[in-house]
Amino acid sequence: MTAELISGTEIRKAMLEEIAAEVTEMKEKHGKVPGLVTILLGESPASISYVTLKVKTAISLGFHEVQDNQPDDLPEADLLALIEKYNNDPDIHGILVQLPLPDHIDDKKILNAINPDKDVDGFHPVNVGRLMIGGDEMKFPPCTPAGIQEMIKRSGTETSGAEVVVVGRSNIVGKPIAMMMAQKGEAANSTVTIVHTRTKDLAAHCKRADILIVAAGVPDLVAPEWIKPGSTVIDVGVNRVGMNEKTGKAILKGDVDFDAAKKIAGKITPVPGGVGPMTIAMLMQNTVRSAWMHINADKA
Ligand code: NAP
Repeated sequence: MTAELISGTEIRKAMLEEIAAEVTEMKEKHGKVPGLVTILLGESPASISYVTLKVKTAISLGFHEVQDNQPDDLPEADLLALIEKYNNDPDIHGILVQLPLPDHIDDKKILNAINPDKDVDGFHPVNVGRLMIGGDEMKFPPCTPAGIQEMIKRSGTETSGAEVVVVGRSNIVGKPIAMMMAQKGEAANSTVTIVHTRTKDLAAHCKRADILIVAAGVPDLVAPEWIKPGSTVIDVGVNRVGMNEKTGKAILKGDVDFDAAKKIAGKITPVPGGVGPMTIAMLMQNTVRSAWMHINADKA
């Protein structure tokens, strides 16, 4: 048996088409489009490439996109003033500050200064609290966990009553996806276990999982014997394990031994082309959601 592949690349494509149609509808009905600002300090090539992708995607969807590049010695007070400006700008619905920030700036102070109703990354403590409460309270689920849940949903995996095991307890992936899968609601209602480096018998927990979500950052951590036959396996790990001499590109591997696991699992995500491409689609979706929230609030 070979597992069905859950392709993040294909799901992202479908989602971006849906979002573009929603933007057209918003423009026609309300004369507005979602507005996104990306704030980048300095010229780190990795940060530039992440920001460029976000900017290009936003523009391709018809968003009002503001790219605000600043020098890397911008004083913290000036960055805070910039965020305040965008907090008060009615044409901006999402504010992204590209991390990492230079050493003289306190990341936490900056992220906490973003208006929670424009925090489309979902990292502000208010949004973490909203996620914990769940239901209608949840405004902006963080993008990688939201992408994981979307893939589970669109792959037709049954989640209600399912045993979900999450490997990893980081604030950006493990903890939020565990909470999202345990909530009452669609693509959730699961029984969730979180495992980590202090867990006594990792293999035993993984073997019980109807849905196994692995976000550890350890190549091939999950051996094929740990996978329940027919289960859904979501591999979040992105590990650079070498360099392709012909292309000059990094060779990427997930946290699951993919070639062996696909013979046992029912559905599985590849690396690359799995969870990775989903993050940007969810970011765009959060920005559209924010725009609708602001339009509805203006009408109320
Ligand atoms: P992180 O902050 O380093 O957290 C890793 C978690 O995995 C920790 O909770 C750690 O446990 C646990 N862990 C590590 N080794 C383990 C082991 N041998 N056994 C059991 N648990 C273990 O990492 P992260 O930010 O969540 O990212 C995880 C992976 O996902 C990375 O490869 C990252 O590149 C990838 N990622 C991908 C995307 C994307 O595709 N869009 C987004 C984010 C992250 P302790 O807490 O006990 O240390």
